[in-house]
Amino acid sequence: MLTDTQVKRYIDGAGANCPYCGEPNPMGGPVEIEGKLAVQEMSCASCQARWNDIFARFNAVDVDRVNAEEVAPPDTVNGSPREYLVRWEIDTEAVTPHEAAARALAVQRDGDPANTATIFEVTDKVTGMVTTVDLATETDPYETH
Ligand SMILES: [Zn+2]
Repeated sequence: MLTDTQVKRYIDGAGANCPYCGEPNPMGGPVEIEGKLAVQEMSCASCQARWNDIFARFNAVDVDRVNAEEVAPPDTVNGSPREYLVRWEIDTEAVTPHEAAARALAVQRDGDPANTATIFEVTDKVTGMVTTVDLATETDPYETH
């Protein structure tokens, strides 16, 4: 059973190392397309572990646009809501955990444009893909108008 930490480390490393034992170059089987998902059965020759790589980004681009990473929006543009885990963190000083939470809530709600606590870590619960979003500096590149 893979832990969230193991999965995150594996994804951050673009799948270059076995998520269980860390040995490089896990073996990939054929890629199967299941609807909008591409699934590849993976295995490790060192520890015999097996798992599935799931690729969830789905898009169609012109063949001459080779940099797919740059041009491919996530499949949220297809209109199907996805499940995300959103984390917000802030450093604060307080005497008790309750006071710390109250201070964080105050910052979160103050609406001050100078408020710098605008960074959210968003995890796609299907793919485990983590995106860091700073609402102060970024507009949604995939927002449709
Ligand atoms: Zn392994």
